[in-house]
Amino acid sequence: MKTNICPLCNGHKIASTTTFTVDLGSSLIVVRNTPATVCSLCGESWISDSVSENLEQVVAEAKAKQRVIEVVDFQLESVA
Ligand SMILES: [Zn+2]
Repeated sequence: MKTNICPLCNGHKIASTTTFTVDLGSSLIVVRNTPATVCSLCGESWISDSVSENLEQVVAEAKAKQRVIEVVDFQLESVA
């Protein structure tokens, strides 16, 4: 069992989802429902490597739409 203690405030980290925002300067991409580990006390969030890789694809697709603000939902299409 791993201890899920927040290194910032010693609160408990729980599996949850977060809204991930990427500011590209010319456009802002908001990815909702991104799986993450979130501290229940201070709200700091951590994203796993696999989620991070998926996030890069989601952001790349959103970026291609060239909108000022693009809000998308994170979706795990396939779990490797
Ligand atoms: Zn915390």
